[in-house]
Amino acid sequence: MDRTVILIVLGVVAAFFLLILLGLGTTHKSPPSEESSLVMTSKAAAIPSSARGPAIDPKKGYFVEEIRDGFYWVTDGVYQVIFLTTGEGVIAVDAPPSLGQNYLKAIAEVTTEPVTHLIYSHSHADHIGAASMFPNNVTIIAHEDTKAKLVRDNDPRRPIPTVTFSDNYTLTVGNQTLELSYKGPSHEPGNIFIYAPHQKVLMLVDVIFPGWTPFMFLALAEDVPAYIQAHDQVLEFDFDTFIGGHLGRLGTRQDVSIQREYILDMKANATDALKTIDFAAIGKKVGFDNPWLLFDVYLKAVAQKCADVTLAKWRGRLAGADVFTFSHCFRLMNSLRLD
Ligand SMILES: [Zn+2]
Repeated sequence: MDRTVILIVLGVVAAFFLLILLGLGTTHKSPPSEESSLVMTSKAAAIPSSARGPAIDPKKGYFVEEIRDGFYWVTDGVYQVIFLTTGEGVIAVDAPPSLGQNYLKAIAEVTTEPVTHLIYSHSHADHIGAASMFPNNVTIIAHEDTKAKLVRDNDPRRPIPTVTFSDNYTLTVGNQTLELSYKGPSHEPGNIFIYAPHQKVLMLVDVIFPGWTPFMFLALAEDVPAYIQAHDQVLEFDFDTFIGGHLGRLGTRQDVSIQREYILDMKANATDALKTIDFAAIGKKVGFDNPWLLFDVYLKAVAQKCADVTLAKWRGRLAGADVFTFSHCFRLMNSLRLD
């Protein structure tokens, strides 16, 4: 996720809480529940054990493991990458700065093959901002929209892709094959599916978060209908293991189905809240003189109702649901109003 976007979002979120603290941002008749806002993060619910991944040796700072047949994954507990040994060079995917050189150490732990190919899942610096650590002659493959963004951003940490595609691209190196495909802006334009048909492993970054609620505001999805649709697109693949690019464990088909159910629940709850929260009644209370204040109070009341109903079912089932459900409801509600 782009750092500027995150800073803007954090600023907006901070402004919300200031208003809530000042008593301007809530229409609650009863006191707000404990998880009613992101400001309660420090009191967040316990993380269910189902959300935990393998232990990471603090001296190493990363965990590497072969999933099957030369397909490996690496995590630092927050970010995930994959690589494949092919007999003719390593195919690496993404390069998060949080892993940095530990990625190279993880590869060197299991093979002496050099990295010859690098795939970008998408353009965001938090996932590929360490890409310049790979050799200059590495072949970099990405979607054409990712290349366009990287040309625009002109960031030396994220070298420009040397091979691009629009719909599908099959990469075969040595004894390994990856099928890359683009099915729409699931997270941002250019975010691709990375599929290993032999190993039955599928990677899609910043959309599904096994065991956890997505990062805030539907993981900052640029296009909410496309984000929701991506859950069905994932389930169309024949895979056993899913890699979401974040947090500490691998995913399964069931994880994808669970998040799909959670997102559709929130969509239904946001739809219902838009129908039932009375705009005119809030206007009578707040006044119609300052439309921005009126909309601020109204939209937050809608998102809060959506969050309260959603959390009654999902609190404790997905880690972090108490932290980010309000923000997801807020994003969904605005999509329902506008898209
Ligand atoms: Zn991203």
